[in-house]
Amino acid sequence: MTRAYNFNAGPTALPEEVLKRAEKEWLNYNGTGMNVMEMSHRSKPYEEINHQAQNLLRKLLNISNDYEILFLQGGASLQFAMMPMNLLEEGKKGYYVLSGSWSEKALKEAQKIGDAESVASGKDNNYTTIPDIKDLSSLENGSYLHITSNNTIYGTQWHETPKNLSIPLVADMSSDILCRPIDVNSYGLIYAGAQKNLGPSGVTVVIIKKDLLARSKDSLPSMLDYRTHANNQSLYNTPPTLAVYLLKLVLEWADSLGGAEALEKINQQKAELLYHEIDQSNGFYNGHANKNSRSLMNVTFTLNSKELTDAFLAEAKELGFTGLNGHRSVGGCRASIYNAVPLEHVEKLAQFMKEFRTR
Ligand code: PMP
Repeated sequence: MTRAYNFNAGPTALPEEVLKRAEKEWLNYNGTGMNVMEMSHRSKPYEEINHQAQNLLRKLLNISNDYEILFLQGGASLQFAMMPMNLLEEGKKGYYVLSGSWSEKALKEAQKIGDAESVASGKDNNYTTIPDIKDLSSLENGSYLHITSNNTIYGTQWHETPKNLSIPLVADMSSDILCRPIDVNSYGLIYAGAQKNLGPSGVTVVIIKKDLLARSKDSLPSMLDYRTHANNQSLYNTPPTLAVYLLKLVLEWADSLGGAEALEKINQQKAELLYHEIDQSNGFYNGHANKNSRSLMNVTFTLNSKELTDAFLAEAKELGFTGLNGHRSVGGCRASIYNAVPLEHVEKLAQFMKEFRTR
């Protein structure tokens, strides 16, 4: 059987090299006679895996020693609550830019913890554009500003993050971490579920500026306190060992390709193939996102009728393309083209889009 042309929104394709390497090491990881799942998380081999994964992420995103890297569980959804539990200060506000459903969810969770509000929203235009924050100076008394760097459902992405903020910038990078280089120093905290660009589900990466750890209160349950995990190398309790191991393999793969710069170039090439087909289709395909907010990771588009959409998706499925249905709130189609989706698969999709349109 051949591999699917996998355009799932997440979990999604992993690099074939990574899967083969895992298969090779499946019964006997590095001479231990065990699968990584079978070994103690307190053993030397596992501690090394944990350490190497952290170091690789530090290298690939150029993360300075001012930041802790944590591997947690509970998905990005737990971070919607855990982040304000730790960072939202008494008498101050958590500010949110609403750029899609995930940021709405993040705000709702924060409002259960304390005082949080939206400072810009793209909801009125159905999240086709990343909204502008009108007055940055009005944020001065906040605890943080939260953004969702890539909007998985709507296919929009921040291309320039707010500059000269006087409060920490917090970003949910679940669907675009490591798709391009970023300046980690301009963030107070970054979180991301691994299951799109970094590996399988089950592990969530948190990158937090060390000085922000001082905001956590002793009254927090240990597992919800960032300091617990920072002080224990993310080994306070049993970590998702297999997920962290696969994360390490994905990071090695990313490193071997040339890191974030190289990945960005390939991602631009892949996205351009699909956006080009949309733009020159004379309205046969309609891109959901405005051009200046288009995502490198999720290409969203509609066709002009339900019949045409159904026919497109049915034929695509026949040909081995999977995951092209749009999210129910946008409809139409969505091609998620995360780091591990090969260029050739995107070329195949662009070719199919063209053939279908011509016919
Ligand atoms: N944020 C974004 C941007 C996402 O795309 C997703 C998942 N699709 C989430 C948060 C929720 O992540 P999880 O399922 O890991 O909780």
